[in-house]
Amino acid sequence: MMLDDLARGLATTLKMMFEKPVTIQYPEEKRRVRTRFKGRHHLQRYENGLEKCIGCSLCAAACPADAIFVEAAENTDEERYSPGERYARVYEINMLRCIFCGYCQDACPTEAIVLGDNYELSFTDRRQAIYTKEMLLDPVPPGGQPTPQRTPSGVYTRSVPVMKDPSD
Ligand code: SF4
Ligand code: SF4
Repeated sequence: MMLDDLARGLATTLKMMFEKPVTIQYPEEKRRVRTRFKGRHHLQRYENGLEKCIGCSLCAAACPADAIFVEAAENTDEERYSPGERYARVYEINMLRCIFCGYCQDACPTEAIVLGDNYELSFTDRRQAIYTKEMLLDPVPPGGQPTPQRTPSGVYTRSVPVMKDPSD
């Protein structure tokens, strides 16, 4: 009986030697994530470089893990960060609390906060787990200007852009 088991085990080992390996050699080789995957957040900008975040804190209110902290401040035309009245002076996400549910993304009225496909989050200290606005904000797109910007008066009066297709 023991020899039977041994032979069966060896046969299985021999069979698997000729099968295509399923192991991914991470980190050299990376598996593509699914389209609905929710990874590290980032804060988006408009094409002209203005920040999409208007500091409304709806994401913080929607977060079930109380992981987001937002402190808003007033925009002026001399020092403008985002369209409309206010911008996020402080924006932080505690990645140790986050459960990557995506509720913040769903709640955001300007599509500022989005969860991307980066899952390589590691830190060795609790303080490093607090991702600041500087860490989360996208780089200025080509042709755009960094924030704060000096903008003409009466142009950026709306905090939430007009949607071309409200059912979108
Ligand atoms: S993904 Fe969920 S838990 Fe994480 S910050 Fe957003 S709302 Fe909070
Ligand atoms: S990310 Fe969106 S929901 Fe959160 S404060 Fe900014 S604009 Fe408001």
